[in-house]
Amino acid sequence: MDPSTDLLNHIDGRPVLPSTGDWLDNINPATGRVIQRIPRSGADDVQAAVTAARTALAGPWGAFGIQQRAAMLDRIADGIAARATELVAMESDDQGKPRSLAARVDIPRAEANFRFFAGAIRHEERPCHPMDGHLNYTHRRPAGVCALITPWNLPLYLLTWKAAPALAMGNTLVCKPSELTPRTASMLAEIASEAGLPDGVLNVVHGDGPGSGAPLTSHPDVDLVSFTGGTSTGRLVAAAAAPQFKKLSLELGGKNATIVFEDADLDAAVAGAAMAGFANQGEICLCGSRLLVQRSIYDTFVERLTAKVAALRVGPPEDPATDVGALVSAAHRDKVEGYIQLAQDEGGTLLCGGRRVALPSPHSGGYYLQPTLVGGLPITCRTATEEIFGPVVTVHPFDTEEEAIQMANGVRYGLAGSVWTRDLSRAHRVAQSIESGMVWVNCWLVRDLRVPFGGMKESGVGREGGRWSMDFYSEPRNVCVKL
Ligand code: NDP
Repeated sequence: MDPSTDLLNHIDGRPVLPSTGDWLDNINPATGRVIQRIPRSGADDVQAAVTAARTALAGPWGAFGIQQRAAMLDRIADGIAARATELVAMESDDQGKPRSLAARVDIPRAEANFRFFAGAIRHEERPCHPMDGHLNYTHRRPAGVCALITPWNLPLYLLTWKAAPALAMGNTLVCKPSELTPRTASMLAEIASEAGLPDGVLNVVHGDGPGSGAPLTSHPDVDLVSFTGGTSTGRLVAAAAAPQFKKLSLELGGKNATIVFEDADLDAAVAGAAMAGFANQGEICLCGSRLLVQRSIYDTFVERLTAKVAALRVGPPEDPATDVGALVSAAHRDKVEGYIQLAQDEGGTLLCGGRRVALPSPHSGGYYLQPTLVGGLPITCRTATEEIFGPVVTVHPFDTEEEAIQMANGVRYGLAGSVWTRDLSRAHRVAQSIESGMVWVNCWLVRDLRVPFGGMKESGVGREGGRWSMDFYSEPRNVCVKL
């Protein structure tokens, strides 16, 4: 490889080679070709980044007031907007998602995350609790050095969902993006430096989970860990953070139900179920991968949905007509294919999809799979209860509202769900009975950045978003004054 194209760590405001001298290949999943090398960092690199972050807390950044921090966030948002085209291409080339999706969702949302938290701290009201003869007021101090560990499905979107509120509250950061999708994190660090963020405030350490993620979560000088990723990794992160009583937020896996009642607007529900199942190749934690349909409309609904899903275009991410791009890696494609085989072994029938898609050069080495619908499976089987995190949706009939709720709740996850009905009372009843952090009614993935985001059961611990993020990324301190 040409070393001039290597991606480097970003520590204390500068690009830094990995102390290990070790590298990983960053592969474009749309072509199977190597883009560049990225550092396989180790504990020494993490140490350097944490030291830089700790030092920066006591530097000029520590003296930034609310208005200065808000202005800084706005300048970073401006930088993201100015480099949006580059960021869209990078995100798509790293991840395999359609460029049109990155341009419509990922990158605008990264910008919006910074703008939102700039506004949030400008307008925040803080509590004051008067007593007879005394006055309490509560102010916030930064939590300290924050470890932000993020997955590969929405790389910059999720990193900025953490970094923006963490910076807004005055913290310093060590970011560990997924080794599969490293580039937009590095560009964010560049943009932040160009915006004038002091050195050491936002550091990026690249590498794999065990080599760089693990030493970061267990580092004694890290005060807070915000992790988004799989449930089994979340368990390791929780075990590493707990003995040191670090603040911890875990946004983990999901196996979300889309529930369609017989009185739903079927056009909207078919479109919504298809989007919930297959957006971003089904690689979104909020995807509706279990579709529950009332028996009276089951055949009609499934027929219409199957036609819609079969018509989704699998293609090169850069083609504006592409609906479904490449899966993130060969290993992940193989895992998803394993579940398609398991579905059939468990007695399921493929209603559509199930096969690889071969595209002409230069995409012939890419990891493409048809969007896949599976019917005829028991709701308790592995395919219907384990997170696949790919373009596979299982479809199940139900008879009553109670049965639908029971089926929706019959998994160890509790992240999200959607309910499709025209009956307002039922919509509220069912929404409030689903064991999950978020429920959409007659829509999916509509996000207001003020609302709590997160899951229950094995989908995570804690909430982020709006004031929940501001609480998490700060330590409230009460001051009681004798009048
Ligand atoms: P992983 O859990 O494999 O990885 C997440 C991040 O953790 C990566 O940066 C990874 O590094 C790192 N990591 C791996 N091992 C360790 C470790 N021992 N200590 C610290 N960090 C570690 O998840 P994926 O990247 O595969 O992402 C998919 C998962 O993320 C799915 O389960 C999905 O549901 C979940 N997710 C949840 C969301 C939510 O908000 N609830 C949103 C989006 C995704 P590396 O990849 O380099 O090994």
